[in-house]
Amino acid sequence: MKVPIYSGLFFYPLSLLSIRITLKKPIYFDYAATTPVHADVLKAMLPYFSEEFGNAGSSQHYFGWAAEEAIQTSRKKISSYFGVQARQVVFTSGATESNNLCIQGYLKDRPKGHLITSSIEHKAVLQVFQELAHQGWSVTYLQPNPSGCIEVSEVEQAIRPDTALISLMMVNNETGNLTDFQSISQLCKQSNIIFHSDATQAIGKLDLTQYAHLPDLLSFSGHKIYGPKGIGGIILYSNVALKPLSFGGGQERGLRPGTLPVQQIVALAACFDILPLLIESLEQISAYKSRIVKGLHSEFVLNSAENQSVPHILSISIPNMDWEDLYRKIPAIAVSNGSACNAKSQLPSHVMKAVGHSDTLALSTLRISLSYLTQESDVDFLIDYLNKQLFDR
Ligand code: PMP
Repeated sequence: MKVPIYSGLFFYPLSLLSIRITLKKPIYFDYAATTPVHADVLKAMLPYFSEEFGNAGSSQHYFGWAAEEAIQTSRKKISSYFGVQARQVVFTSGATESNNLCIQGYLKDRPKGHLITSSIEHKAVLQVFQELAHQGWSVTYLQPNPSGCIEVSEVEQAIRPDTALISLMMVNNETGNLTDFQSISQLCKQSNIIFHSDATQAIGKLDLTQYAHLPDLLSFSGHKIYGPKGIGGIILYSNVALKPLSFGGGQERGLRPGTLPVQQIVALAACFDILPLLIESLEQISAYKSRIVKGLHSEFVLNSAENQSVPHILSISIPNMDWEDLYRKIPAIAVSNGSACNAKSQLPSHVMKAVGHSDTLALSTLRISLSYLTQESDVDFLIDYLNKQLFDR
């Protein structure tokens, strides 16, 4: 199939922009940026666009009842996965909104005190803390250890008597590195501090049903787990009271008003049916990741902690290579040099800077992210291609 080059346009002179260049579609290794909608998920959501198009708020007739029933069923499915009551699930537009609502919704109208987060959080958390700091909150940004992970002992040391909330992601979206959220959950409970965790990159990569200690508040997004973009959620594990940030028709018990997007919610719930498939694929993906690391014939800096990262994300930085050259040499693969949310800025990633990389090394980073859809032949191609294009082997 022929497709226009869009992703590579940045690297081409302006005169070429008007020319419609075609090439073979690259092989996708950017599943941490987004995932394709799974066929079962698409099938589940389709009737709610046109046949069952009702507004769940229309309580006087069939169309509204059908929509409301679909939402209740979806909410129940998601709540039973997390082992909570249906009312502990809040639907949002995605993880960005979930993070905002969890953090700001909990702190709203509270006396200003101290907050803890880390310098390697996603911008959808970091920018919230920046805003809170402007409002007068005191914020501690924990720095990662040399492997790029946040240490529990650092969290413990940072706690103050006036610490109101800690927000630390479960899995880093750029490196795949894991945070020991179980120990931090326990620590927060003992210290009476609310613990929020951005689990966007963790769901489907960790079996969250197997953990005894989980955060009080958890954010997630549909499009990272083979659902559509524009839907996400919050799990209020410990029934924490959040205050709304917007106001309207009282949906989601007043916490997140607005007409509920029934088709998106049905799709999100359908994603939870495919989580077992995602978990089953972990072993294979882990083997692929090791194969890539072993197969590359040159020096690179491994940014994904060897024994403390999820199998899906492999981040490497290539020394002594200009990042524009780097990306110009590899048009046949779709990889990114960090978060998709930073990609347009062309600035070195704050995560790579936090682990101590220079601007040049930070920019010359490849985040290769894998999926259950990744084939063995894709992995072999990737290894050969990188060796040939970058390392001249
Ligand atoms: N948090 C993390 C860890 C992410 O990876 C992303 C997506 N890049 C987000 C938050 C934002 O999610 P959404 O696109 O659903 O707003």
